[in-house]
Amino acid sequence: METLSERLAAVRERISCALRKAGRAEDSARLVAVSKTFPAEAVASAREAGQFLFGENRVQELATKVPVLPQDIEWHLIGHLQANKVRAAVNLATWIHSVDTADLLRRIVRIAEEENRTPRLLLEVNVSGEASKFGMRADEVEATVSACPTPLLCGLMTVAPAEATVAELHQVFASLRKLRDSVAAATGHPLPELSMGMSGDFEIALAEGATIVRIGSAIFGHRDYPAGAPG
Ligand SMILES: *Cc1c(COP(=O)(O)O)cnc(C)c1O
Repeated sequence: METLSERLAAVRERISCALRKAGRAEDSARLVAVSKTFPAEAVASAREAGQFLFGENRVQELATKVPVLPQDIEWHLIGHLQANKVRAAVNLATWIHSVDTADLLRRIVRIAEEENRTPRLLLEVNVSGEASKFGMRADEVEATVSACPTPLLCGLMTVAPAEATVAELHQVFASLRKLRDSVAAATGHPLPELSMGMSGDFEIALAEGATIVRIGSAIFGHRDYPAGAPG
């Protein structure tokens, strides 16, 4: 049985390898270690192994971990955010990947200003159009950026369908990249970040231009409840 630090090193090596294969610079993608459902001790071990970026999908779980872990950790909220938890989220997270409506974007921007915080924000896009998924439609992204061109907004995020083939995964990730290119061109708003790729598909996402991969089970091990559980 590998240790957490061995699994983390193996994931880092696979990321480097995928970037090299794609002709990309070694430092052109960030690894967010997704620690949802795992105890603070597991985060502390990964932090000791040199991992500083962690992702959680529920504000409540984030709120229990942040105060008991080192201050130098950068927290990423990656799960659906309810309107009544925005204030807590902007005070706990440095990044919010799951901005899935124009209303939520405006609300986060207003509350971040009140709280004197500058979270980096990504619009979550439901590229494949699955009914069960959070995220705005691809055709809503340009209007959302135009209506609220905040400097906090720095890119797009997607979750690929769990059952997709390799060819379909390439297509989903390439679609997010092309959507980013076209929205950035149309609005003049730079959107350099593409948050895409999880344990099962991150190498494909890196080949298609991911700048942030969100990896949980390949680092922390198997989880007993579903990846997309809202919170
Ligand atoms: C849980 C989760 C991940 C990580 O999933 P793994 O398959 O464990 O790597 C990534 N992104 C989101 C939005 C998640 O909810």
